Amino acid sequence: MEYIVFDLEWNQSGSKAGEREELPCEIVEIGAVKLDASFQARDEFSVLVRPVVYRELNRRTQELIGLTEEELREGRPFREAAERFLDWCGADSMFCTWGDMDLTEFQRNMQFFGVKPRRQGVLKYYDVQKLFAISQREPKEQRSLEYAAQVMELSEAGPFHRALSDARYTAEIFRRLDKSCLSNYSTDYYRCPGSREEEIRAVFSTYSKYISMGFSTTERVMADKEVASTRCCVCGKPAKRRIRWFSWRSGSYYCLAWCREHGWLRGKIRIKKAGNGKLFAVKTIKRVSEEEADAVRKRQEQMRQQRRQRRQRRKRTKREAGRRDRQRQIAADTMAQNR
Ligand SMILES: [Zn+2]
Repeated sequence: MEYIVFDLEWNQSGSKAGEREELPCEIVEIGAVKLDASFQARDEFSVLVRPVVYRELNRRTQELIGLTEEELREGRPFREAAERFLDWCGADSMFCTWGDMDLTEFQRNMQFFGVKPRRQGVLKYYDVQKLFAISQREPKEQRSLEYAAQVMELSEAGPFHRALSDARYTAEIFRRLDKSCLSNYSTDYYRCPGSREEEIRAVFSTYSKYISMGFSTTERVMADKEVASTRCCVCGKPAKRRIRWFSWRSGSYYCLAWCREHGWLRGKIRIKKAGNGKLFAVKTIKRVSEEEADAVRKRQEQMRQQRRQRRQRRKRTKREAGRRDRQRQIAADTMAQNR
Protein backbone atom coordinates (compact mmCIF):
# COMPACT_ATOMS: atom_id res chain seq x y z
CA MET A 1 0.00 0.00 0.00
CA GLU A 2 1.30 3.43 -0.96
CA TYR A 3 0.04 6.76 0.34
CA ILE A 4 -0.60 9.68 -1.98
CA VAL A 5 -0.49 12.86 0.07
CA PHE A 6 -1.82 15.57 -2.21
CA ASP A 7 -2.86 19.18 -2.10
CA LEU A 8 -4.72 21.42 -4.52
CA GLU A 9 -4.86 25.12 -5.13
CA TRP A 10 -7.97 26.45 -6.81
CA ASN A 11 -9.47 29.66 -8.09
CA GLN A 12 -13.03 30.88 -7.68
CA SER A 13 -15.29 33.32 -9.40
CA GLY A 14 -14.77 36.95 -8.35
CA SER A 15 -18.54 37.38 -7.94
CA LYS A 16 -21.48 35.18 -6.99
CA ALA A 17 -23.15 36.05 -10.29
CA GLY A 18 -20.23 34.75 -12.31
CA GLU A 19 -20.08 31.41 -10.51
CA ARG A 20 -20.78 28.13 -12.30
CA GLU A 21 -22.72 25.90 -9.94
CA GLU A 22 -21.15 22.69 -11.26
CA LEU A 23 -17.66 24.08 -10.69
CA PRO A 24 -17.39 26.51 -7.76
CA CYS A 25 -13.64 25.83 -7.43
CA GLU A 26 -11.43 25.48 -10.49
CA ILE A 27 -8.18 23.69 -9.77
CA VAL A 28 -5.02 25.59 -10.79
CA GLU A 29 -2.33 23.48 -9.15
CA ILE A 30 -1.82 19.88 -8.01
CA GLY A 31 1.06 18.87 -5.77
CA ALA A 32 1.68 15.47 -4.19
CA VAL A 33 4.13 13.29 -2.29
CA LYS A 34 4.14 9.52 -2.55
CA LEU A 35 4.94 7.55 0.60
CA ASP A 36 5.68 3.83 0.62
CA ALA A 37 4.19 1.30 3.04
CA SER A 38 6.74 2.28 5.69
CA PHE A 39 5.90 5.98 5.24
CA GLN A 40 9.12 6.92 3.44
CA ALA A 41 8.84 9.63 0.77
CA ARG A 42 9.48 7.99 -2.63
CA ASP A 43 8.44 10.54 -5.22
CA GLU A 44 6.89 13.94 -5.80
CA PHE A 45 4.41 15.32 -8.32
CA SER A 46 3.64 18.89 -9.26
CA VAL A 47 1.70 20.51 -12.09
CA LEU A 48 0.18 23.91 -12.83
CA VAL A 49 -3.25 23.92 -14.45
CA ARG A 50 -4.45 26.57 -16.90
CA PRO A 51 -7.88 27.84 -15.79
CA VAL A 52 -10.52 28.10 -18.51
CA VAL A 53 -13.67 28.86 -16.50
CA TYR A 54 -12.38 31.54 -14.12
CA ARG A 55 -9.47 32.90 -16.12
CA GLU A 56 -9.15 35.93 -13.92
CA LEU A 57 -7.46 35.15 -10.65
CA ASN A 58 -9.61 36.06 -7.70
CA ARG A 59 -7.72 38.70 -5.67
CA ARG A 60 -7.86 36.59 -2.52
CA THR A 61 -6.60 33.52 -4.36
CA GLN A 62 -3.78 35.54 -5.85
CA GLU A 63 -2.71 36.87 -2.47
CA LEU A 64 -2.99 33.44 -0.90
CA ILE A 65 -1.14 31.30 -3.41
CA GLY A 66 1.11 33.96 -4.93
CA LEU A 67 0.62 32.77 -8.49
CA THR A 68 0.04 35.16 -11.38
CA GLU A 69 -2.28 34.84 -14.37
CA GLU A 70 0.78 34.81 -16.64
CA GLU A 71 2.22 31.82 -14.78
CA LEU A 72 -1.08 29.97 -14.97
CA ARG A 73 -1.35 30.56 -18.72
CA GLU A 74 1.71 28.30 -18.96
CA GLY A 75 -0.17 25.55 -17.11
CA ARG A 76 -1.51 22.31 -18.62
CA PRO A 77 -5.20 21.78 -19.44
CA PHE A 78 -6.96 20.13 -16.46
CA ARG A 79 -7.72 16.92 -18.35
CA GLU A 80 -4.08 16.31 -19.17
CA ALA A 81 -2.90 17.30 -15.67
CA ALA A 82 -5.44 15.01 -13.98
CA GLU A 83 -4.66 12.01 -16.22
CA ARG A 84 -0.94 12.45 -15.54
CA PHE A 85 -1.60 12.69 -11.82
CA LEU A 86 -3.84 9.58 -11.79
CA ASP A 87 -1.22 7.62 -13.78
CA TRP A 88 1.39 8.67 -11.26
CA CYS A 89 -0.84 7.62 -8.31
CA GLY A 90 -1.14 4.02 -9.46
CA ALA A 91 -4.00 1.66 -8.67
CA ASP A 92 -3.28 0.55 -5.13
CA SER A 93 -2.82 3.68 -3.08
CA MET A 94 -4.63 5.55 -0.35
CA PHE A 95 -5.21 9.29 -0.64
CA CYS A 96 -4.28 11.60 2.24
CA THR A 97 -5.20 15.28 2.37
CA TRP A 98 -5.32 18.16 4.85
CA GLY A 99 -9.06 18.60 5.54
CA ASP A 100 -12.00 17.06 3.77
CA MET A 101 -12.32 19.24 0.66
CA ASP A 102 -9.56 18.34 -1.77
CA LEU A 103 -10.75 14.90 -2.81
CA THR A 104 -14.28 16.15 -3.39
CA GLU A 105 -13.15 19.16 -5.40
CA PHE A 106 -10.78 17.00 -7.44
CA GLN A 107 -13.64 14.67 -8.39
CA ARG A 108 -15.92 17.61 -9.15
CA ASN A 109 -13.29 19.01 -11.53
CA MET A 110 -12.86 15.54 -13.09
CA GLN A 111 -16.61 15.31 -13.68
CA PHE A 112 -16.75 18.83 -15.13
CA PHE A 113 -13.85 18.29 -17.53
CA GLY A 114 -14.88 14.74 -18.46
CA VAL A 115 -12.05 12.78 -16.85
CA LYS A 116 -13.13 9.18 -16.22
CA PRO A 117 -12.81 7.98 -12.61
CA ARG A 118 -10.35 5.11 -12.21
CA ARG A 119 -11.88 3.66 -9.07
CA GLN A 120 -15.41 2.52 -8.43
CA GLY A 121 -17.58 3.14 -5.40
CA VAL A 122 -16.93 5.20 -2.31
CA LEU A 123 -13.40 6.41 -1.61
CA LYS A 124 -11.73 5.92 1.74
CA TYR A 125 -8.94 8.31 2.57
CA TYR A 126 -7.03 9.85 5.45
CA ASP A 127 -7.91 13.36 6.51
CA VAL A 128 -4.58 14.31 8.11
CA GLN A 129 -6.14 17.39 9.72
CA LYS A 130 -8.56 15.10 11.54
CA LEU A 131 -5.82 12.61 12.49
CA PHE A 132 -3.71 15.48 13.81
CA ALA A 133 -6.66 16.70 15.94
CA ILE A 134 -7.17 13.20 17.34
CA SER A 135 -3.47 12.89 18.16
CA GLN A 136 -3.62 16.26 19.95
CA ARG A 137 -6.66 15.04 21.94
CA GLU A 138 -8.82 17.83 20.52
CA PRO A 139 -10.86 15.77 18.01
CA LYS A 140 -13.30 18.58 17.08
CA GLU A 141 -10.59 21.15 16.36
CA GLN A 142 -9.75 22.11 12.76
CA ARG A 143 -6.24 23.50 12.92
CA SER A 144 -4.43 25.12 10.03
CA LEU A 145 -1.52 23.38 8.37
CA GLU A 146 0.79 26.17 9.58
CA TYR A 147 -0.31 25.57 13.15
CA ALA A 148 0.31 21.82 12.92
CA ALA A 149 3.70 22.35 11.26
CA GLN A 150 4.65 24.63 14.12
CA VAL A 151 3.46 22.23 16.82
CA MET A 152 5.44 19.43 15.18
CA GLU A 153 8.46 21.70 14.72
CA LEU A 154 8.84 20.86 11.06
CA SER A 155 11.71 22.33 9.12
CA GLU A 156 10.79 24.58 6.22
CA ALA A 157 9.50 22.78 3.12
CA GLY A 158 8.65 25.90 1.09
CA PRO A 159 5.92 28.57 1.27
CA PHE A 160 2.48 27.61 2.56
CA HIS A 161 -0.46 27.62 0.12
CA ARG A 162 1.47 26.22 -2.78
CA ALA A 163 0.35 22.72 -3.64
CA LEU A 164 3.66 20.84 -3.49
CA SER A 165 4.97 22.44 -0.32
CA ASP A 166 1.62 22.00 1.44
CA ALA A 167 1.67 18.34 0.35
CA ARG A 168 5.20 18.04 1.79
CA TYR A 169 4.15 19.50 5.14
CA THR A 170 1.06 17.27 5.23
CA ALA A 171 3.14 14.19 4.37
CA GLU A 172 5.65 14.99 7.09
CA ILE A 173 2.88 15.40 9.68
CA PHE A 174 1.24 12.17 8.50
CA ARG A 175 4.56 10.28 8.81
CA ARG A 176 5.12 11.46 12.35
CA LEU A 177 1.65 10.66 13.66
CA ASP A 178 1.27 7.75 15.98
CA LYS A 179 0.12 4.94 13.69
CA SER A 180 -2.59 3.90 16.13
CA CYS A 181 -4.72 6.76 14.78
CA LEU A 182 -4.82 5.15 11.32
CA SER A 183 -8.00 3.27 12.22
CA ASN A 184 -9.75 6.66 11.84
CA TYR A 185 -10.03 6.76 8.09
CA SER A 186 -12.50 9.09 6.38
CA THR A 187 -14.99 8.52 3.63
CA ASP A 188 -15.34 10.86 0.70
CA TYR A 189 -18.94 11.77 -0.05
CA TYR A 190 -18.65 12.94 -3.64
CA ARG A 191 -19.92 9.56 -4.77
CA CYS A 192 -22.43 7.82 -2.52
CA PRO A 193 -22.86 4.04 -2.46
CA GLY A 194 -24.59 3.01 -5.69
CA SER A 195 -26.41 -0.03 -4.25
CA ARG A 196 -27.17 -1.91 -1.04
CA GLU A 197 -24.00 -3.98 -1.51
CA GLU A 198 -21.85 -0.84 -1.64
CA GLU A 199 -23.30 0.66 1.54
CA ILE A 200 -20.76 1.27 4.28
CA ARG A 201 -20.88 0.06 7.84
CA ALA A 202 -17.96 0.78 10.13
CA VAL A 203 -17.46 0.47 13.85
CA PHE A 204 -15.03 2.84 15.57
CA SER A 205 -14.02 2.86 19.21
CA THR A 206 -16.86 5.07 20.45
CA TYR A 207 -19.44 5.00 17.65
CA SER A 208 -20.64 3.22 14.54
CA LYS A 209 -21.14 4.74 11.13
CA TYR A 210 -23.40 3.80 8.24
CA ILE A 211 -23.52 5.37 4.78
CA SER A 212 -26.61 4.58 2.75
CA MET A 213 -27.13 4.26 -0.96
CA GLY A 214 -28.62 7.25 -2.83
CA PHE A 215 -32.32 8.18 -2.99
CA SER A 216 -34.24 10.81 -4.94
CA THR A 217 -35.74 12.72 -1.98
CA THR A 218 -35.10 13.26 1.75
CA GLU A 219 -38.49 11.65 2.52
CA ARG A 220 -37.40 8.50 0.71
CA VAL A 221 -34.11 8.43 2.62
CA MET A 222 -35.85 8.74 5.97
CA ALA A 223 -38.56 6.20 5.06
CA ASP A 224 -35.93 3.54 4.39
CA LYS A 225 -35.94 0.79 7.03
CA GLU A 226 -32.19 0.30 6.98
CA VAL A 227 -31.55 4.04 7.35
CA ALA A 228 -33.97 4.28 10.28
CA SER A 229 -32.71 1.15 12.06
CA THR A 230 -30.81 1.56 15.34
CA ARG A 231 -28.37 -1.16 16.24
CA CYS A 232 -26.21 -0.86 19.32
CA CYS A 233 -22.73 0.34 18.35
CA VAL A 234 -21.17 -1.94 20.99
CA CYS A 235 -22.95 -5.30 20.65
CA GLY A 236 -24.66 -4.83 17.28
CA LYS A 237 -28.04 -5.98 18.57
CA PRO A 238 -31.18 -4.06 17.59
CA ALA A 239 -31.84 -1.31 20.13
CA LYS A 240 -35.37 -0.14 20.77
CA ARG A 241 -36.07 3.47 19.86
CA ARG A 242 -37.40 5.49 22.78
CA ILE A 243 -37.54 8.71 20.77
CA ARG A 244 -38.29 8.39 17.09
CA TRP A 245 -36.19 10.18 14.48
CA PHE A 246 -37.01 13.87 14.52
CA SER A 247 -35.61 16.60 12.35
CA TRP A 248 -33.21 19.03 13.92
CA ARG A 249 -32.10 21.96 11.78
CA SER A 250 -31.92 21.48 8.06
CA GLY A 251 -30.63 18.14 6.92
CA SER A 252 -30.07 16.48 10.29
CA TYR A 253 -32.10 14.13 12.45
CA TYR A 254 -31.75 12.68 15.92
CA CYS A 255 -33.18 9.73 17.81
CA LEU A 256 -32.67 8.01 21.12
CA ALA A 257 -32.50 4.25 21.55
CA TRP A 258 -31.92 1.88 24.43
CA CYS A 259 -29.77 -1.24 24.51
CA ARG A 260 -30.56 -3.48 27.44
CA GLU A 261 -26.90 -4.21 27.91
CA HIS A 262 -25.25 -0.89 26.98
CA GLY A 263 -27.80 1.76 27.88
CA TRP A 264 -28.54 4.95 25.93
CA LEU A 265 -27.61 5.29 22.29
CA ARG A 266 -27.89 8.51 20.34
CA GLY A 267 -28.59 8.23 16.65
CA LYS A 268 -27.75 11.06 14.28
CA ILE A 269 -28.46 11.24 10.57
CA ARG A 270 -27.13 13.86 8.23
CA ILE A 271 -28.62 14.01 4.76
CA LYS A 272 -25.93 14.63 2.16
CA LYS A 273 -26.05 15.37 -1.52
CA ALA A 274 -23.72 13.39 -3.76
CA GLY A 275 -22.08 14.71 -6.93
CA ASN A 276 -24.75 12.98 -9.04
CA GLY A 277 -27.56 14.82 -7.18
CA LYS A 278 -28.70 11.77 -5.18
CA LEU A 279 -29.46 12.18 -1.49
CA PHE A 280 -28.07 9.74 1.05
CA ALA A 281 -27.78 9.30 4.81
CA VAL A 282 -24.70 9.35 6.99
CA LYS A 283 -25.82 7.80 10.25
CA THR A 284 -23.78 7.58 13.43
CA ILE A 285 -24.80 5.74 16.57
CA LYS A 286 -23.02 6.60 19.77
CA ARG A 287 -23.26 5.34 23.30
CA VAL A 288 -24.17 8.31 25.52
CA SER A 289 -24.60 9.21 29.18
CA GLU A 290 -27.90 9.96 30.93
CA GLU A 291 -27.19 13.71 30.56
CA GLU A 292 -26.53 13.44 26.83
CA ALA A 293 -29.71 11.41 26.43
CA ASP A 294 -31.52 14.17 28.26
CA ALA A 295 -30.12 16.75 25.85
CA VAL A 296 -31.70 14.83 22.96
CA ARG A 297 -35.07 14.84 24.76
CA LYS A 298 -34.76 18.61 25.25
CA ARG A 299 -34.02 19.10 21.58
CA GLN A 300 -37.09 17.14 20.64
CA GLU A 301 -39.22 19.21 23.02
CA GLN A 302 -37.77 22.41 21.52
CA MET A 303 -38.60 21.26 17.99
CA ARG A 304 -42.14 20.36 19.07
CA GLN A 305 -42.64 23.79 20.57
CA GLN A 306 -41.37 25.52 17.46
CA ARG A 307 -43.72 23.45 15.34
CA ARG A 308 -46.64 24.31 17.61
CA GLN A 309 -45.82 28.03 17.45
CA ARG A 310 -45.55 27.91 13.69
CA ARG A 311 -48.94 26.19 13.49
CA GLN A 312 -50.51 28.82 15.74
CA ARG A 313 -48.98 31.64 13.74
CA ARG A 314 -50.37 30.15 10.54
CA LYS A 315 -53.82 29.79 12.10
CA ARG A 316 -53.75 33.36 13.36
CA THR A 317 -52.76 34.76 9.97
CA LYS A 318 -55.51 32.73 8.36
CA ARG A 319 -58.06 34.05 10.86
CA GLU A 320 -56.96 37.63 10.30
CA ALA A 321 -57.08 37.23 6.55
CA GLY A 322 -60.63 35.87 6.90
CA ARG A 323 -61.66 38.86 8.99
CA ARG A 324 -60.19 41.30 6.45
CA ASP A 325 -62.05 39.52 3.64
CA ARG A 326 -65.34 39.78 5.53
CA GLN A 327 -64.79 43.48 6.22
CA ARG A 328 -64.02 44.12 2.57
CA GLN A 329 -67.17 42.27 1.59
CA ILE A 330 -69.30 44.33 4.02
CA ALA A 331 -67.80 47.57 2.69
CA ALA A 332 -68.50 46.50 -0.88
CA ASP A 333 -72.08 45.52 -0.02
CA THR A 334 -72.68 48.87 1.72
CA MET A 335 -71.36 50.73 -1.29
CA ALA A 336 -73.63 48.74 -3.59
CA GLN A 337 -76.68 49.51 -1.43
CA ASN A 338 -75.90 53.23 -1.31
CA ARG A 339 -75.58 53.46 -5.05
ZN1 LIG B 1 -25.52 -3.24 23.18
